Order: sequence, then C-alpha cells, then structure tokens
Amino acid sequence: MKRTVFILIALLLIIIQLAAFPVVSFAENVSGNNRNFHWQLDENGVFTISGYGEMPYYMGTMRPWYDYRDQIKEVIIGDGITTIATAAFSGCSNLNNVIIPDSVTEIGDNTFQGCYSLKSVDFPSELRAIGSYAFCESGLQSVVIPNNVTYISTNAFSQSGLKSIVIPDSVYRIGDDAFKFCSSLTSIDLGNTVEIIGQRAFSGCYSLKTITIPESVTKINSSAFEGCTSLKTIVITKNVRTVKDKAFFNCSSLTDICFEGEESEWINLDVETNNQELLWANIHYNHDWNEGTIVLFPTYKETGVYLYKCKFCDKEKTEIIPVLRAPMGDVNRDGIISMKDLSTMKSIVAGRETAEYIDSCDINNDGIINLKDLRGLKEMLVD
Ligand SMILES: [Zn+2]
Repeated sequence: MKRTVFILIALLLIIIQLAAFPVVSFAENVSGNNRNFHWQLDENGVFTISGYGEMPYYMGTMRPWYDYRDQIKEVIIGDGITTIATAAFSGCSNLNNVIIPDSVTEIGDNTFQGCYSLKSVDFPSELRAIGSYAFCESGLQSVVIPNNVTYISTNAFSQSGLKSIVIPDSVYRIGDDAFKFCSSLTSIDLGNTVEIIGQRAFSGCYSLKTITIPESVTKINSSAFEGCTSLKTIVITKNVRTVKDKAFFNCSSLTDICFEGEESEWINLDVETNNQELLWANIHYNHDWNEGTIVLFPTYKETGVYLYKCKFCDKEKTEIIPVLRAPMGDVNRDGIISMKDLSTMKSIVAGRETAEYIDSCDINNDGIINLKDLRGLKEMLVD
C-alpha cells in the first residue's frame, strides 16, 4: 500500500513539474493527415494544406496545429480546397499572409478571428460567403469583397483594423455587428444594392466622418451607427422610410444631413426614439450646391460641362452647356465680321475654296452655301 501511495505521489510530482514547464514554442516541422488532406507546418512558419473539397473541421482546440498556432506566419491553402474550415486559424497571432486559391468559395465562421498580424487578404473571385466573426479582431486594414458575395455575415469584420471598405453591388444585406468597433474605418462605400443595414452594423466606428446611404436602403436598423462620434455628414435618400431606435444615437458630431428629397418627404420619415442628433442636424434638401465650375468648355460643335459640388457632402452633379451659337458671318472665325470674310465667302461661293466653318457661312440657314448667303453677308457688312 505504502509503495502504491509513493508511486502515486511521484507521478503527481512529475505531472506538476510538466505543468510548470510547458513546452517552449520553438520552430518545428510538424505535419498530419485527415482523410484526403495533408497539412504541414515548416520551421519557417509556413503552413500548407493540400487536398480536395471541404477542409476538415475540428472543434475549437482540437485542431492538430492548435499548439503550434503562434508559430504560423503564412498559410497556403491548396488549389482544389473549396472551404476554409470554421476557426481553422483563429488566434494565430503571428499570421501575416494568407494565400487563398480560386477554388475556395467559402470562408467559415471565426476562421481568422484574432489574427492581429494579418493586414490584408486577397479574396478569390468566386468567393461567395464570409462566415460570422471570420475576420473579427483581425489586423485587416483593407479588403476587396468579390462581387459574388451576397451578404456580410454577423460580426464578419468587427473590431478589425479596416480603414476603408467597398461593398460590391452583389451584396443586399449587411449583417448585425458586421463592422462594429472598426475604430480606424474612415471610408465606407455601401454600393448600390444593399437593402438592409443590420443592427449595430457600424456602431462604434469612431473615425467615420461621412456616410452615404444608397437608394436601395429603406430601413436603418437599431444602433446601426450608434456611437460614431466623428460622423458629421449623412447623405440619405427619400427611399428610407424608417430610422430605428438609436440608429444614430450618440453621433455627437452630426451637423449636416443631405436629404435627397423634398421637405415634405423628410417630414414623412419615421424616426424612432433616441435619434435626437439626427433631428437636430441641419437638413439640406436635395443638397446645397456651390456656384459650379466649367470643366469642359463648349465649342461650336460640342457641348460643354458644368460641374457643381455639394457644400456639405461629396456629391457632384453636372449640367450640359449647349453648343456655342455659330458666329454668323464670321467666315474665318477671327472674331470680327469684315471685308476679309466677304472675300473668303466669294471664293467659297465660286467654288475656289471650301468653307472651314460651314455654319458661319450659311447666313440664311438653308443648309447650302450659295449667292444668297453672299448677299446676306454683304447686307450684314452694310449694317
Ligand atoms: Zn450634399
């Protein structure tokens, strides 16, 4: 009996010692297989996985490379793999590069969550789904979402390092909390097809100064922009019917709203409680345009363009400037009607010269240049 107790105590001591000195994480070359998949992590921190179809899923810490996750610096997904499994690389804090082949159509939930060092990812063009929390708490600064993605999942990019985001015209829904607490986010292009902006989708995006809500949006959900304390200008269309509770709560810098519609339409907007910032701001119906500048001068043949900019948002509009009226009788277009024009006109009518500016020669505007026009020009000179 004593002997058994002694052995047990000895074993216990060994276990305690092992626990006190955990395996030091040094670069190792490890690998494994699962069904038809083979993965390997080399001593340089490059993790490769090859196979075909959906990548195997392991519950939480069951990933065979879990203990080596801090060693992973680069992930190379093999061509032929169609999904990157749920939580496959979550918590890989040193991961800074991921290569995803064109065969991948889905990135699972939590896949790169907490990958602080991951600054950018090139998505394959056929990518259709980005899972919930997929890039939550990642270092991702910029990303191009391919235009096969139809919705942005819950928390997909929340608390990430995103600085700007462009939503492609395939996306119709931005999920709840999708970009919540992206504190570096300064530029959002919501595209033209988004219908639903989820609850808290952009809440706590402290750096955001301006947002344009596309025409496709009819409802802004609760707390969608809550706590966007730098948000100064909103562009909103008359298609928005409802602004839910706290949608713009605590947007303490909000001063200007460009409303694409008339005052009578703004009054019909259903603004729910806790949106006083929205109601206290200055409303600019159909924008407030500057005096405009000519960006393309008209000629006698081509129209010109006038450009107006809104004083409060990025919106611009153009106006066509009609073609210049031909200076009738100024045959040589030197700015004055003189005997020089008459002599040129004589040559033209006599067929010795071709008219350079037909519309200035066609005095009676009948489509042909003949003696009648010559006579007309003579009369102009007498006058
Ligand atoms: Zn405006």
